[in-house]
Amino acid sequence: MRFNIITIFPDIIDSYTNESILKRAKEKNLIEVNAINLRDFTEDKHKTTDDAPYGGGPGMVMKVEPICKAIQHVRAGVKAQDFASRQAVILLSPQGATFTQKKAQEFSKLEEITFICGRYEGFDARVSEFVDEEISIGNYVLSGGELPALVITEAVSRLIPGVLGDQESSVEETFSKSDNYIEYPHYTRPEVFEVDEKKYSVPEILLSGDHEKIKKWREKNAQKKKE
Ligand code: SAM
Repeated sequence: MRFNIITIFPDIIDSYTNESILKRAKEKNLIEVNAINLRDFTEDKHKTTDDAPYGGGPGMVMKVEPICKAIQHVRAGVKAQDFASRQAVILLSPQGATFTQKKAQEFSKLEEITFICGRYEGFDARVSEFVDEEISIGNYVLSGGELPALVITEAVSRLIPGVLGDQESSVEETFSKSDNYIEYPHYTRPEVFEVDEKKYSVPEILLSGDHEKIKKWREKNAQKKKE
């Protein structure tokens, strides 16, 4: 699966995806991450990607032309009907629909996703005419779309077969069955952890070796997410 991330800070993307799980997924050719420099789609000598807002007010606004050209570059050569079924262009915005595990599962079926990362006050409103969806990673405002693009890239990549070492680990995970499903609790050594004269023990059933009972205990202890 290919992730295109259109940004004025491509190094942020390379720095994160060149470590850990995403690095291994790239090396195994399970994913491709292209950090696309928005400045490559400008035409003036200063490579301008933002300008002052019409009507006045604070901050700068991301210009529509370079973003539109970058999207056309990504879409070049792909037939419109193929694009709709296999690819998506996502505008990252705190005003968009909230990203969920269900959305990650939906995205993981695509062949290619392109993210547009904003900065400053956000985008010229006309940018939304050229994208498929607007997505937010939560009800808070960050300074740029790079972290949201990486959050979504990682959540989607984990669902691609072979990306995780043990494929089971994304099957039972929190949100895997529904938006309010919480995975059962995990424990590892030591059996008893002691601090300030208080003992914290691992539930005995997990030490029993009885797989059927352990399975039932885990089902019982998987919870609904607190609101
Ligand atoms: N002025 C905008 C508003 O009030 O909606 C906020 C702009 S924000 C400072 C700059 C950029 O960061 C946005 O254009 C978007 O790309 C990204 N961003 C910030 N928070 C985000 C979030 N929660 N989800 C997705 N993208 C976000």
